[in-house]
Amino acid sequence: MGAEIIDGRAAAKELRTELATRVSSLAAETGVTPHLLAVLVGEDPASAIYVRNKQRACEQAGIQSTLRRLPAETSQSELLDLVAQANEDHSIHGILVQLPLPSQIDEQAVLDAVSPAKDVDGFHPHNVGLIVQGRPRFMPCTPRGVQHLLLRHGVETSGAHAVVLGRSEIVGKPMAMLLMQKGPGGDATVTVCHSRTRNLADITRTADILIAAIGTPHFVTADMVQPGAVVIDVGTNRTDDGLTGDVDFAAVSQVASAITPVPGGVGPMTIAMLLENTLTAARLSASGS
Ligand code: NAP
Repeated sequence: MGAEIIDGRAAAKELRTELATRVSSLAAETGVTPHLLAVLVGEDPASAIYVRNKQRACEQAGIQSTLRRLPAETSQSELLDLVAQANEDHSIHGILVQLPLPSQIDEQAVLDAVSPAKDVDGFHPHNVGLIVQGRPRFMPCTPRGVQHLLLRHGVETSGAHAVVLGRSEIVGKPMAMLLMQKGPGGDATVTVCHSRTRNLADITRTADILIAAIGTPHFVTADMVQPGAVVIDVGTNRTDDGLTGDVDFAAVSQVASAITPVPGGVGPMTIAMLLENTLTAARLSASGS
């Protein structure tokens, strides 16, 4: 029997509708409309599409968005100046610097320069620290999107063995952190695997929940998955055959009990969570926190 499909588009749509209601309530109560500044440096077509999708989602939820496009030859100090101005601008609640940045710019220095109160991607060390301590201000968008899908789909994380493939700062590490926190969507026993992991398939076969965030098309094959496991595919790989995930969807969906497709799984949730964080930033700003 084939796995149930975990529909990220439907979940994201539901969440964005709910967010639109909360955005208008905030505006009615405080006069504040959340405002996201997106900064795009250079001409990378994929980045331009990502930013456009984020802006469109903002508009649909009633969130104001402004795009600052800078040329590819922008210097680090010019970008840092722009971030500093946005940090001081009270009309801007969230700042998103689209990655990757051109090679002359130190990405970490730029992400560190974003005010933690406006860091809607949740990349600032201050916000990462709060997540580690289990008292998040902004949830990391992609991992939170995955957690939301698990909760919405009624997947029991408590006591489950969750295996995360990948240890990046934006997906793998914060994903593991969310799954091990106490409370709904957490309380899992988490194993994190990476390129130095030995006997990887032996570990993945013990996963009740398997989350793939590696960046290699079709890396996870059916023999790596325990029958009945829930498989979440974060991978977004552009191939000659179009967008594919890190999971061999056709084969693994014959073994798993539930699985996310690519596209239409985790991707739409990431954007919805960015909106949620922008609303949080505006609410914190309105309350003077
Ligand atoms: P990344 O920074 O390149 O990290 C990849 C991780 O996978 C690293 O920890 C790496 O291990 C590990 N890895 C690579 N090859 C491996 C192997 N053969 N065996 C075991 N581990 C291996 O990538 P990322 O930014 O986390 O992104 C991962 C994927 O998710 C990409 O396809 C990306 O496009 C996608 N993504 C999707 C969304 C979304 O919204 N859907 C958001 C973000 C990312 P080492 O640390 O040892 O090198």
